[in-house]
Amino acid sequence: MSDQTFYSGLQQKLDTLRSDGLFKPERVLASRQGAEVVAQDGRTLINMCANNYLGLAGDPETQQAAAAALEKYGYGLSSVRFICGTQTVHKELEAALSTFLGTEDTILYAAAFDANGGVFEPLFDENDAIISDALNHASIIDGVRLCKAARYRYANNDMADLEKQLIAATEAGKRHKIIVTDGVFSMDGTIAQLDKIVALAEQYGALTMIDECHASGFMGATGRGTHEHCGVIGKIDIITGTLGKALGGAMGGFTSGKKEVIETLRQKSRPYLFSNTLAPMIAGASLAVLERISKSTELRDRLMENTAYFRAEIERIGFTIKPGTHPVVPVMLFDAPVAQKFAARMFELGVLLSGFFYPVVPMGQARVRVQLSAAHTREQLDIVLKAFEQAGRELGIIKQQ
Ligand SMILES: *Cc1c(COP(=O)(O)O)cnc(C)c1O
Repeated sequence: MSDQTFYSGLQQKLDTLRSDGLFKPERVLASRQGAEVVAQDGRTLINMCANNYLGLAGDPETQQAAAAALEKYGYGLSSVRFICGTQTVHKELEAALSTFLGTEDTILYAAAFDANGGVFEPLFDENDAIISDALNHASIIDGVRLCKAARYRYANNDMADLEKQLIAATEAGKRHKIIVTDGVFSMDGTIAQLDKIVALAEQYGALTMIDECHASGFMGATGRGTHEHCGVIGKIDIITGTLGKALGGAMGGFTSGKKEVIETLRQKSRPYLFSNTLAPMIAGASLAVLERISKSTELRDRLMENTAYFRAEIERIGFTIKPGTHPVVPVMLFDAPVAQKFAARMFELGVLLSGFFYPVVPMGQARVRVQLSAAHTREQLDIVLKAFEQAGRELGIIKQQ
């Protein structure tokens, strides 16, 4: 406590974040997560900014499955997996995820951040090349940094640039090459072109890895993910994903792929070896979620219906959106102060959503991001659309009619 300049330096940086409008306040909810949430002041808001795609986070069935696992397996393990932290429920969940994803084996982590953070270093070294999409998630970027492999970056979703990087890595004589991409990019709702990526990987003898955090559980006809959506099930080498979004919403992550890969990660992946095991109630609830969505596509179908409805209606009202089909719907406002004012006005009108502006998105690309959920009713979506219309007129974003 003797170095006061350390603390005053931090305070200055925090003040700068505030004055630059980049400080991130935390919204405090007084209720469970859902289509509607209660704010701390007691107001009920329609929630349009959760990753709760299938509406399972606050769902009673998920809760009951967690309670049953809590009852059977207790609260936690106080151990890493390899000492005494593996229960039958963890093995069952790993097997269920492998079946769901169409892979050989799966390893659980405390978070997808850990899965991505611990996947590269055990598998690749300075003889290898990691070819990564420029907009990949922070956890992939950090994971790549922890690994000695050469790094190649290609422009977001740009297949010509990807091919250039594949050629560069091949010419550099790299032993193994792996193409790494988010299955879906969460700022834009862009879906990676996995069919083309797999074709390029085959042409250049590269491996492929996808991060399915914004896809597992709902992308593709039966919700297996972006690889199903793009028709390449069984052709992706490594799949990482989260249990903290569509697949229940608590926390936890996984890496899935061939047996040799998963076995190597169990032996060598540092966030797995040196961090506590996933709580059994989360494993139990995730298992129930997988069983539920494997039996019926009802939730994923409703999510996609809600998404199609919202995308069509918001454009009809006169807003500009990034075109696409994903439940992430970026409503473009372009100007950062307008996006901030818009989100604040929507909050007053009872709708929770988040504004994004530079440097989170490129300059001049400010937006509010809407995320649809299977839990939203048509009535709720109509209320949200009315609020968009009202706030849009007030702020001069859409024309008076
Ligand atoms: C949310 C997210 C993560 C991190 O997931 P956690 O399980 O919350 O750590 C990783 N990658 C992508 C693409 C994500 O969207």
